[in-house]
Parts: sequence; structure tokens; C-alpha cells
Amino acid sequence: MTNTRIHVEKKRLQLKQTWTIARGSSDYRDNIFVTIERDGITGYGEGAPIPRYGESADTAVQFIENAIPLLESSDWRHLVDVNGAVQILGRGNQSAKAAIDIALLDWFCKAHEMPLYRYFGLDPEKSATTFYSIGIDTPEKIQEKVRLAQDFPILKVKAGLASDEDVLGAVRSVTDKPLCVDANEGWRDKHEALAKLKWLETLNVVFVEQPMPADMLDDLAWLRARTGIPIFADESVMKTADIPALAEAFDGINIKLMKSGGILEAMRMIWMARSMGMKVMLGCMIESSIAISAAAQLSPLLDYADLDGNLLIANDGFDGVTVEQGKLILPDRFGIGATPNMTERES
Ligand code: MG
Repeated sequence: MTNTRIHVEKKRLQLKQTWTIARGSSDYRDNIFVTIERDGITGYGEGAPIPRYGESADTAVQFIENAIPLLESSDWRHLVDVNGAVQILGRGNQSAKAAIDIALLDWFCKAHEMPLYRYFGLDPEKSATTFYSIGIDTPEKIQEKVRLAQDFPILKVKAGLASDEDVLGAVRSVTDKPLCVDANEGWRDKHEALAKLKWLETLNVVFVEQPMPADMLDDLAWLRARTGIPIFADESVMKTADIPALAEAFDGINIKLMKSGGILEAMRMIWMARSMGMKVMLGCMIESSIAISAAAQLSPLLDYADLDGNLLIANDGFDGVTVEQGKLILPDRFGIGATPNMTERES
């Protein structure tokens, strides 16, 4: 269609501080940004490629460029059909699919003049409170990060390395807030993992995320049977079809748009997890206010939200969801609620 314009680009997001988890450290992330325009309406999308799943910004840009002819020839009012066709254009590439899904939903809701939460019939007043994530660091820097996060009622602490005792000790030396602990698959032996959990049981930990590698499901079920701390899946779950097999090993799942391939699949995951009696959280990668605002629109459905990726970057190009005392405040705007930030600075 002649009044259609689609643009994709790679952009480097600079982290305010070096970000360290059990898998490694980074000072920046290369994300991809998609803009789709038709009938004078613009939809914004973003993808944060996950190297663990074989993605990079370049593979994501390539996937989206391949999808452009399909998008150009589709009727975006038939959102579900267009999205379904994009999802089967190729295997994997979940972050690229998410970028397109977010842009399509943004465009669709703007065309119908409603916020995305309204499309799903959700009450924005019931938006979740987000964790604030504390990456692995020296005890002094961790204490400083915890103090800077004073407005957030629950902190998420990264673990999974030999430094766990030092990290948690540093956190607990400056706060008694409830914590959730994310091991990012870092404990590779079930007895080691159980010893860690028994120790965490004494530290007011709300839940532990992915204590062991995703392919050690039997060991994870063994572990869950021996601890009172709920265990959440992150690396073990990407899509709806993964969830039934996880019910014995996990109490809940961490959904991310960049794993699911977007918002529509994330909604299916929420209902599937609920039907199996599991808890639901929605997490993120390092993302700007585009993808974070999109995810936040679903937050009235969650037990927990971990949507702080935009707070960790120095050059967010968009304004969107804001946070007050940890609670996500959904913007009163059509679509996903993100709009270009005119004061963007590279700092
Ligand atoms: Mg995680």
C-alpha cells in the first residue's frame, strides 16, 4: 500500500552502570527499533535480541527486513492474521517477532484510539509494582545500588556465582526489604543449589528464579520438593507450549516479550500458566521505554513485574510508563503508551 512506510534500525543502548549476571557482563546492548506508518498513524516496536537463543541485532534486523513485503501487503486491521503470518516466517528470532508484534499492536490501538490495556479490558489502576534489579558487583557498589533503589519495595538480586554470599550479604547489610533472587542457571549441582536455597530461606526471599540450567528439569523438580521458597522459570520457558512440562518443577513463570515473540503470545502464556495453577511474572531484557511500556500494559494481570530495563539505560529515546514508589503508572495515551523523547541525549 502506497501510504505505508516501514523502517528498522539497530541502536546502541548505553547502560548507566556495567551490568553483570551469571552469564557475563556488558556496558551496552544493541537493540532494534521498528517504525511502521500507515494512514498517518505510527506504530513503534523494539526488540532486544537474546544471545543465549542465537540472536543478535543483525539477525533481528535481517528477519524484519525479510518481513517487510508481508507487512506492506497486509491489512493491519486484521492484526491477528498479520501477526500469525509474521510468527511463522522463520524459526526463532523471537525478539524480532516481538518488535513487529509491539509495533502492530501500537498501530492498531492508535487506529482505534485506545490504550493497549483497554484493548485487553484491563484496569490501569491495577498495574503491578516492579522489582528493581541489582546486578552482580563489589559489595560497596551493591550497597550503593540498594540505597539508590530506596523507592522500590522489592529488589531483584542477581546471583549464581561464587560471590553469592558476598552479594546477598552486602544487600542485607543495608536493607531488610523482601528480595527475589535470580541465579540465571548458575548453580549446576542440585546439592549445591539446595544448600543455597536453605541459606536463602533465612533471608526473606520471596522467590528464586531459575536456580539451575533449563535442561536439568528433573533436578529442578527435586529441588522444588525440598524448599519452601517458590521457584520461578525464566530460561526454561519461552512460549505457551513449554508451560505444561514445567508444572512439577516450578511454582511460576517469568514471561518476557523477547522470548514469547510478543504481546499476543505473552497473553496466551498468562492464561496457560493460570490454568495450571502457576504464578505469573513479566520480566524484561535491557530495553527502552518502547518495549517496557508495551509489557507494562499487561501488568494488571501479574503477580509480579520485573520491568525496570529502561531505568538501567542512559539514552532511552522514548517516554512511556513511569514508576512511583515501584508502582508502574500506565500513560493515558493510545497504543503502547510510548512516545519519542525530544530531550534524548547520549550520556
Ligand atoms: Mg531471569
